[in-house]
Amino acid sequence: MRLLFRCQHVVQSDPSKVVPPMCPQCGERKVARVLEAPTPRLRGWGRGPLVASEALSPQQYNLAPAGSLPAQKGPTT
Ligand SMILES: [Zn+2]
Repeated sequence: MRLLFRCQHVVQSDPSKVVPPMCPQCGERKVARVLEAPTPRLRGWGRGPLVASEALSPQQYNLAPAGSLPAQKGPTT
């Protein structure tokens, strides 16, 4: 995608990179506008022109990697 930085320089950026974009000419990091962005592609359940509905395999996530929280007493009434 093409980015217009606040310094008015236009840079072609790779959105798959994890490094934040920076103007190679002057070092500016603030993006004023995204000029061209790829159309997002969504997978899974949903509706709309950008959604490709397909059954995804179940995934397991560890939502509490440090273990469960200790039980707390509720408010007494
Ligand atoms: Zn610049």
